[in-house]
Amino acid sequence: MSGVRPVTAPVLGVLGSGQLGRMLALAAAPLGVRVHVFAPEPGPATQVTDRATIAPYADTAALRAFARACDAVTFEFENVPAEVAEQLAAHTVVRPGPRALAICQDRIAEKTFLGDDAGVPTAPWREVGAVAEAADFLRACGTPIVLKTARFGYDGKGQAIVRDPAELPQAWARLTARPDVAILAEGFVSFEYEASVVLARGTDGSIAAYELARNVHRDHVLHTTTVPAGAPDAVVTRAAAVATRIAEALDYVGVLGVELFVSADGTVRVNELAPRVHNSGHWTQDGAVTCQFEQHVRAVLGWPLGDPSRRGGAWRMTNLLGDDVFDVPRWTVTPGAHLHLYGKTEARPGRKMGHVNVAIDPA
Ligand code: AMP
Repeated sequence: MSGVRPVTAPVLGVLGSGQLGRMLALAAAPLGVRVHVFAPEPGPATQVTDRATIAPYADTAALRAFARACDAVTFEFENVPAEVAEQLAAHTVVRPGPRALAICQDRIAEKTFLGDDAGVPTAPWREVGAVAEAADFLRACGTPIVLKTARFGYDGKGQAIVRDPAELPQAWARLTARPDVAILAEGFVSFEYEASVVLARGTDGSIAAYELARNVHRDHVLHTTTVPAGAPDAVVTRAAAVATRIAEALDYVGVLGVELFVSADGTVRVNELAPRVHNSGHWTQDGAVTCQFEQHVRAVLGWPLGDPSRRGGAWRMTNLLGDDVFDVPRWTVTPGAHLHLYGKTEARPGRKMGHVNVAIDPA
């Protein structure tokens, strides 16, 4: 051995400075990967990485310089303007690609893709351009129905459950407060439970799926995720097949979250896609051989995927929402608990402040 040889660290660009970006950066570090964040303002992610561009998404010069500084770019939330992904793609690799982003950030495009391209079941739905069309849908489908904005909805924002035709005008007025956003109506699924499949797809088309997770929401926000989900084998197999079909039809690269409704008869319907690491995959940080964040870094850099197998008996992830963050002293003495806090300095009702993964006995 002679002389000094340079070692080049790959640089992964991440659009967005939230907690998902933070956990991506933390998982990238042991792989020797540097994370460069691009976001309009600092956040949980910029606390843990030394490279950040703080600029609006409309700053094309800053975007270009960022793209050139990165070997690949990904995003930690899906409401990045699709034009931004396209601009970046002119200078560097963007994964998942702009098409997956465009489909997943618009519920109408997403539902059309799920039915027509992936051929997977969803709740009955239609786009509604006027309150009279929503009333027609309600008559055809029966109550309740759910009205949703096609864009910018998350954690139950931008949606209204209509249980009685008399509630329609008020729900309509609330959702159309932003006039440029289309509205869809969905039949209400009387599911037995909610579940999700988080999987990774590599540049070579290989797929590494985490096992089915069972999710409980409170006020439309994920509260707990439990694995194993305690679902019959047929449901587990069906859910994995549905998620795989979606990833392949999108020609997806990276980690994908597929949110599902599971009915008592074992029917699996897709509710929503998340083109990124997903809250219901956080248990993998402590409970899987390769966690979803490392898996996403590997996938988007074109590396081989890691082993998604579960370690240990069973896991429960609990989100620390708002004031739950003040329970941290209790969690620090809970046996088997692994804390993950996001460094946010203001607790607001429903705000995701952190989560805790606890090893539990299988049910
Ligand atoms: P979303 O923002 O679409 O993920 O919806 C948030 C939550 O609202 C879901 O996780 C469900 O608990 C509930 N929800 C949304 N759409 C429906 C539906 N069509 N039927 C029943 N529950 C729904």
